[in-house]
Amino acid sequence: MPPAFDLDRIVAAIRTAADRPDGPIPLHEPDFAESELAAVAAAVESTLVSTVVPEVERFERLLAAATGAPHVVATINGTAALQVALQLAGLDSGDEVLVPALTFVATANAAVYLGATPHLVDSEPVGLGVDAAALRTHLERIAERRRDGCRNRLTGRTIRALVPMHTFGMPADLEPLAELADEWGLALVEDSANALGTLYKGRHVGTSGRCGVLSFNANKIVTTGGGGALLTADGDLARRARHLTMTAKVDHPWEYFHDEVGYNFRLPGLNASLGCGQVARLDELVARKRRLADRYHRAFADLPGLRIVPDPPWGRSNRWLVALELAPELAGRRDELLERARGEGIGLRPPWTPLHRLPMYSAAPKAPLPVAEALADRLVNLPSGARLGGPPGE
Ligand SMILES: *Cc1c(COP(=O)(O)O)cnc(C)c1O
Repeated sequence: MPPAFDLDRIVAAIRTAADRPDGPIPLHEPDFAESELAAVAAAVESTLVSTVVPEVERFERLLAAATGAPHVVATINGTAALQVALQLAGLDSGDEVLVPALTFVATANAAVYLGATPHLVDSEPVGLGVDAAALRTHLERIAERRRDGCRNRLTGRTIRALVPMHTFGMPADLEPLAELADEWGLALVEDSANALGTLYKGRHVGTSGRCGVLSFNANKIVTTGGGGALLTADGDLARRARHLTMTAKVDHPWEYFHDEVGYNFRLPGLNASLGCGQVARLDELVARKRRLADRYHRAFADLPGLRIVPDPPWGRSNRWLVALELAPELAGRRDELLERARGEGIGLRPPWTPLHRLPMYSAAPKAPLPVAEALADRLVNLPSGARLGGPPGE
């Protein structure tokens, strides 16, 4: 017999953990401090709202300090940062790039903007990131190592890069992925868009490959309304990224001279003015979200067939979105829970639709995806905003 699936008990557990006995519970509400509102007002008053203002550089310095990344380039959003990161990692039109099937669509879109093809790979069930062992088996079957890189024998294209993503803020197991990337001559670019504050073996994610990216979209742990950043240890790459994201304009007091086709991807100062205070409170926000995750662990401890996905042994999640996992026998009943929550205004969400189930990626090259498919059907994200779980400090 499958375990009981008692919607009343599940909703009660969510309400207990979130400390919201009644009323709606948003999935992920931003948390702003008075001082952040004042900083935005000051930016407006100063008229320094555009991209070439000191506030953007201050935001970059704060992010460098928060992540340990030697260089940070702020961008208009996370997708733009990913596009530039892939371009600077050498992704060319006609190449393939390995991305998890279970990710936000932007991971693949960024490759397509460059004329490349996403090649979808499977996840592992502990940290929910790209499964390095399964990927090795897949590459050994379909690819060959050549002096000029890794070639997909089935499509004839070069596989240029590997883009692990830190699912719901949980760190992917990066070491085996970095080894694999080395072995096969792949550039490693981390989509750490939702993982600001996440650590892998004590080190901030987004800092172990060629580059990593962050997003500051309104539903992320730290927000600038919209925004993103590229992280790298490579000073040349950072300089190139800054140049490309600012229309490739050559620095000069009056001349408008651009030396290549660049992008208008720089973060505006108005957004940065909100972000500075937010990043300064990152530790507090992570602590509150981790406390909320602990409350979910306790509230769901006695519910059969359900578990809160814990942190993997190799790192500490920022708990961007807490994930509830249904036992395989309950997978078919997930949508009853989503319906019920919707009726009460509780912001539950299924994971992203795996990319091979989207029309534009249904024919993309792919590895077998048993884990991604199972996870997509059995996970539910719970309300995870930092304001939930009772007043700060309790
Ligand atoms: C949010 C997100 C992005 C895109 O960031 P935007 O700032 O919205 O462009 C990319 N990848 C993942 C995994 C994300 O969660």
